[in-house]
Formats: sequence, structure tokens, C-alpha cells
Amino acid sequence: VTKHFPVRGVRLRRGAAPRVVHAVENVSLSLYAGRITALVGESGSGKSTLARLLAQLYPLTSGEVRLHGQAVHSQRGRAFRDHVRKVQLILQDPFASFNPVATIASTLKRAVAIHQPGKRGKDQAAVIDDLLQQINLVPARQFTEKYPHELSGGQLQRISIARALAASPEVFLADEPVSSLDVSIRLGILNLLRRLTEERNAAMLYVTHDIASARYFAADTAVMYAGEVVETGPSEAVTQQAAHPYTQLLIDSAPDPARDGSGRVRDIGQPPSLIDPPAGCRFHPRCPFAMERCGSQAPPSFDLTGGHTARCWLYADDAEARERRADNAR
Ligand code: SF4
Ligand code: MG
Repeated sequence: VTKHFPVRGVRLRRGAAPRVVHAVENVSLSLYAGRITALVGESGSGKSTLARLLAQLYPLTSGEVRLHGQAVHSQRGRAFRDHVRKVQLILQDPFASFNPVATIASTLKRAVAIHQPGKRGKDQAAVIDDLLQQINLVPARQFTEKYPHELSGGQLQRISIARALAASPEVFLADEPVSSLDVSIRLGILNLLRRLTEERNAAMLYVTHDIASARYFAADTAVMYAGEVVETGPSEAVTQQAAHPYTQLLIDSAPDPARDGSGRVRDIGQPPSLIDPPAGCRFHPRCPFAMERCGSQAPPSFDLTGGHTARCWLYADDAEARERRADNAR
């Protein structure tokens, strides 16, 4: 999929091409039932835009999103709504995604009324009780009559997960689901998401800037840089034998979670402007291994071993690339 946003407020000379932000460029990614895939990158790398494209919140510039092999945007009416319902987004800040003047009960009732319109009265109440049990908030009474500001961030994030469950999703898109929460409760929420993914045989995209949590939490990891996916593979391989120089930089600059649980990435320079992204490999201005071709030719995705891929000229099969690769390994 590709997504370009128009740049607003820029006056164009007559005949000049309209300027766009190249937010997501030719990204190809697969999610699997019962499996968590982490999408890792700096802020501004296009991760959240990609998640929103999968949730059909923006139209695509080009490409397709398929669910069970069927292109979602080619569907109309009820079939489209049904597809959209199966893909649920969980956002970073739960307080921003709730109506502040509605009780939790009325928010959940609304969600159940939309997604399970056949359930009314006692049946509806039973569905809500069951949702609250699934997210480990019991006794339900204690929470349902409250307003969002009366709950903690962790409790409200659990409620937002319950609200997503009302739609019986097959795909969860969790965009930095624990980044705004206290470090002490993050693990509990991640474990809840993992359990739901496994029990429901759902697919999950876990969007994060914290590559250490990707290794702990996700079976597969995709690394995004400046709108492109630059490395994919089993999380173990991507984090332990990172192939792309950007992934290596991300890992080297992450704090050791054993020493410091903040999960913050230290300053490692700025990602490029997506209005005029660098030609060739978008990482070449920051890459210590850049070769001549990197400044002009965009690298294809090379297959390494064990389902690991890297979009980087170091993995080309020629003498110069082999030599640089050996430098990199040193
Ligand atoms: Fe570095 Fe070239 Fe690989 Fe880009 S393609 S990451 S510039 S070596
Ligand atoms: Mg984001």
C-alpha cells in the first residue's frame, strides 16, 4: 500500500506538481491468525498511518488491503462495513478515545448495539458483563457507572479493549497501546492482548517505537523507516541478528531494559522529510555503510535465511556488497 497526503498551505507556481507527504510507500506486510506482528520505528516513520490504512480510516493512494484474500476497498455497503468491523484499532491514549461525558456502561452499550444489534435488555447486559470479565475488570458494577476520568489509564485501556471486543474482531491494530501508561502496568495490558489474540485466533499488529518490547511480545517484527518497511522476519532474528543498518542503529541506541525500563530510544538523529525523501535508499544520509548506488537506486527487498528480509544493498550478490557486509559484521 502507498499513502501520500497533500501538503496544505503551500502555494504552487503555475504548472508545478502538487507537493505531497510520502507517508507510506509500497509497503507489503502480512498478518497471521493467532500471531502478533510488531511494527517498529521512530515517530514519523509512518507506522500509525499504516495502521489507519488497514483500518480503512484513510483512502489508499494505491495498493490494496486484503482480508482473507479479499480486497477490502472493493467491497460496498454491508460487506464493506463487515470487513471494517473485523479490524479494530486500539489507540495510545485511551482518554482521547472515550466520550468524557458518557459513563462506561453507556459507551459499551453503544458498542454492543452497533456490533450485536440483536442483543437487547438482559442479553445486552450479559454481553457487557462478559466483555468486562474478558479484560479482567470485575466486579463489573464497580466500573460501569463511572466516567472515563474516574478510571486509571490502565483501567480505561482495558475498557477500550472490551469495546473493540464487542465487534468480535479478527484483526487487532494496537497503536502504541501501552506507551502512555505507567511502566508498572504495561506488562499486564500486553499479556491481556496476547491472551486475546491467542484465544480468539485473531491477528495483531503491535505498533511500537520500543524494539525491546517487540522481541518480548511479538512472533514477527517489521521495521519501518521513513514510510518504508526495511526489514521483516521472526522477532528473534530481527532483534538478535539485525540485518538492516537502521535496525542495528535502533537496537544500539535503545536503553538496556534490564537497567532502565523506560523503553525510550535515545537521540539518534532525525528521520528525513517525507515531502522530499532522499533518493535511492531513504536511509543513505544516515547510513555508515552507504555505497555509491545507495544514493540513487532504491534497494529491493532481499531474502535472507529463515523468512528474514532486508531492503538494503548490502545483501546484493556482488563483490562490493560482500565486502561492505563483512565490514558491517566486524
Ligand atoms: Fe545503507 Fe545502502 Fe543499505 Fe541503505 S541500501 S541501508 S544506504 S547500505
Ligand atoms: Mg504513531
